[in-house]
Amino acid sequence: MKFLLMLRNKGVSDKVLAAMEKVPRDMFVEGHFKTHALDDMALPIDAGQTISQPSVVAKMTEALDIGPRHKVLEIGTGSGYQAAILSHLARRVYSQERHRVLSIKARARIEALKLQNVVITTADGSLGMPDQAPFDRIILTAAAEDPPANLLEQLRMGGIMVLPVGQSNAVQSLIKVEKTPEGLNYTELAEVRFVPLVAGVAKTDGV
Ligand code: SAH
Repeated sequence: MKFLLMLRNKGVSDKVLAAMEKVPRDMFVEGHFKTHALDDMALPIDAGQTISQPSVVAKMTEALDIGPRHKVLEIGTGSGYQAAILSHLARRVYSQERHRVLSIKARARIEALKLQNVVITTADGSLGMPDQAPFDRIILTAAAEDPPANLLEQLRMGGIMVLPVGQSNAVQSLIKVEKTPEGLNYTELAEVRFVPLVAGVAKTDGV
């Protein structure tokens, strides 16, 4: 079944579905994988990375609870698919990717879709973007062992961060972290599998 219909049947909110409907997923994969673009599965992209499964994208987007005035930071641009969805919900989206080949292609797709509120940079996202902080929402699409301290610091008070945590070769937990004056609140959302968050900008595009 095509994933949008499946997500509708599963009760994904109209707001998130409307954003996802505006983003043609087949633009974000290449070659033979285009035939699977409407299936609810992760697919390979360049540099040994993956575009996430649509149901996981929906779950993370829903958990972020984005408002139209929000400034959002994404770590792990990958294909640019998640960033394109975020752009329909937020005021501005900053997305960081450590593989230059991926950021270049993602930027071209975002331009082709005429999305003007997305800024993609090639950088080590575990450091975040201190010059643009604070962010209302932060999403990591690569798994860290713990929420990175730099990113928690760059999250606005009252803000939400959604990320997978755990070892790269094990089942990971998708968690939501809320920053409140009383401290951080953690909610576990699902079991997931993501590629690991890797420190530093990639030197070659195979690594
Ligand atoms: N959100 C993507 C899926 C990304 S897969 C999409 O919609 O297609 C995770 C991505 O995180 C990979 O492209 C990987 O290169 C990137 N990544 C891993 N560690 C990183 C880091 N420290 N900084 C920036 N990007 C990172």
